[in-house]
Amino acid sequence: MGFIAKEFCLVEPFKFALRERVIEDIPKGFLLLKPVVAGICGSEILYFRGEKEPEKLKKRLPMCLLHEGVAEVVGVGEGTKLDVGTKVVINPLTPCGECYSCKSQMENLCQNARYMAATADGLARTLFLYPEERVLPIPEGIDLETAALTEPLSIALNAFEEANVKSSDLVAIIGDGPIGFLLTLVSSYLGNIPPTKLYLIGIVDEKLSLVRDFASTINSLRDYRMLDEIREKVDVSFEAAGGRAHKTTVKQAIDILRPGGKCILLGISMGEVPVEVTKIVNKGLTFKGCTRSRMSHYIKALELLKSTDFQNKVKRIISEKKFVIKDVNDLAEAFKYADTETGESRVKPGRVLVYFP
Ligand SMILES: [Zn+2]
Ligand SMILES: [Zn+2]
Repeated sequence: MGFIAKEFCLVEPFKFALRERVIEDIPKGFLLLKPVVAGICGSEILYFRGEKEPEKLKKRLPMCLLHEGVAEVVGVGEGTKLDVGTKVVINPLTPCGECYSCKSQMENLCQNARYMAATADGLARTLFLYPEERVLPIPEGIDLETAALTEPLSIALNAFEEANVKSSDLVAIIGDGPIGFLLTLVSSYLGNIPPTKLYLIGIVDEKLSLVRDFASTINSLRDYRMLDEIREKVDVSFEAAGGRAHKTTVKQAIDILRPGGKCILLGISMGEVPVEVTKIVNKGLTFKGCTRSRMSHYIKALELLKSTDFQNKVKRIISEKKFVIKDVNDLAEAFKYADTETGESRVKPGRVLVYFP
C-alpha cells in the first residue's frame, strides 16, 4: 500500500508551498484522515503575517496551518473502532501523558504537547495520520461547518469553567471575534447571565450585533458613556482579543473590574504587554491565563451543539465567504481574507472556513 499526501505548508510569512509526503502504512491505534472543512484561527494569522517571535518562526516553519476542523476517516489502523467514512472532530492537542500537567488533569497545559499549527502540522493537507483517541465522531444533527467550530467552542468552555461565574455576576467579554462571541454565548447559556449583566466589548458593530438578543454590547471606539457605566463594577472579565490591541484590552480589563474582580486572559500577541501592576495590586485583582482545552470540553461542546437553538446561534459566526482549497494559492487567498488587521475580516464577522475537495 502507500498513500501520497499533499501538504500546503507555510514556508515563510505570506508564502505557502506544496510538499508531498508518502504515508507507507497506518500504525496501530491510528486513523488515516482526510480533512473536510477547517476554520482559520487568529493564532494562525499571526504565523501567516510573521508576527511571532523570530526563533519560533525559524523553528516551526515550514508547517501546515489549520487546527480547527473536521475530517473523514479514509483508513484505519489495527485496534481502532471507527469505520471508514465516519466524520470526526479533531482535537488538535496530543499531550505527552507523562508530565505533571498531564497527570493532574491539565493536559491543556502540557508543555511537551503537540498542538496542530503550533508545534505540529495542522489540517492544511489532503491526508494525515492521527491517533484515534484524539478524535470524536460527530453526533447526528450537527452539520460539518458547525462541527468545525468545536475547537473554539471548547476554548470558550474551558475559559468559562476557569472563571467560576455566578449567575448574579456582572460579566464583560473583551474582543468581538469568534472566541468573544462564543464566551458571551456560553455565559448566557451555561451561566444564566441576563443580557443586562452580560457585556460584549469590541470595535466592529457588525460583529457586536451577533449577540444582540442575549447580551448588551459596547463599541469601545464610541460608547464611552456605557464603558463608564460599568467601570469598577465588573465581577468577571475575559480578555479575548490579543494581537495588536492587547495593550489596550488588558488596560480596559483592569479599569472595568471591581475591587477583588477577576480576569481570564485568552488573547495572545507577540512579545511583552505592559500592565499597570499597581492598579492590579491596589484593587486586589486576579488575572488568570487560560489556554487550549481538554477532551472533556470537546465532549461538552458537541453535547451543547446537539441543541438546535444553541447550534443556530453558533452558526452566526460562520463567515459568509468560503474558500475551496485546491492549491496553495487558494489557501493564501483565504488567509488574506481572514486577516483581521488588513483583510476583509477586519469588518466582516465570522470564522472563515476552508473546504478540501
Ligand atoms: Zn484556534
Ligand atoms: Zn504532558
